[in-house]
Amino acid sequence: MTTIAANLQAIQHNIEKTAQACRRNPEDIRLLAVSKTFDQQSVRHAWAAGQRRFAENYLQEALEKINALQDLAIEWHFIGPIQSNKTRAIAENFAWVHSVERLKIAQRLSDQRPDTLPPLQICLQINISGEDSKSGIPPEQCAELAAQVQSLPRLKLRGLMTVPARHVMVEQQQRSFQQLRQLLEQLNQQGMQLDTLSMGMSQDYPVAIAEGATLIRIGSALFGQRHNSK
Ligand SMILES: *Cc1c(COP(=O)(O)O)cnc(C)c1O
Repeated sequence: MTTIAANLQAIQHNIEKTAQACRRNPEDIRLLAVSKTFDQQSVRHAWAAGQRRFAENYLQEALEKINALQDLAIEWHFIGPIQSNKTRAIAENFAWVHSVERLKIAQRLSDQRPDTLPPLQICLQINISGEDSKSGIPPEQCAELAAQVQSLPRLKLRGLMTVPARHVMVEQQQRSFQQLRQLLEQLNQQGMQLDTLSMGMSQDYPVAIAEGATLIRIGSALFGQRHNSK
């Protein structure tokens, strides 16, 4: 068994254990393998162990991997910052985008999504902890952007994503995840039907699952430590 296969098994076991402890169905929690900085061979190992959803942050790196891995039916997710000159390649090559934070970007993704593909699945990135350095929109702006994105024909709004501040106490992490869940609940009370909370990474995914995460984004716990600091 490869290290990646063993890591994947351990994470899946942990997801099940955590789900049971908080009385959730483990099948409602999907694992997204964040393969940024790892080579295509690592992705192949994870695929061989049963992983089907992968996420990338950097477009150029992602396109090279997508191209090299065309023989595998991978569901690709884009989770990095989006510049407007990159939207076409994202619209053409990914199934999901988690990092939408501007209407202009959403409009371009919708316009550029090929008709031959299903609608692009979208999460809005929310800056829950309110740090200046973090990507994402403030929670107050979420409802307006959600309504605008919902009206775009080639996008399907699925939910919200966040990357909370690092190195905080468990209570603070919990609170950030709770806030994202409450924000999603508010949107659904206003008539939206959003089913996705993209939250939780290698360090904090059990906390995120306890607070309702449906899609957790795991990099280092699966592939190992990232050496490349980009
Ligand atoms: C890198 C990254 C992850 C994965 O982080 P790990 O701590 O390695 O699990 C998840 N989400 C986003 C947005 C990232 O950039």
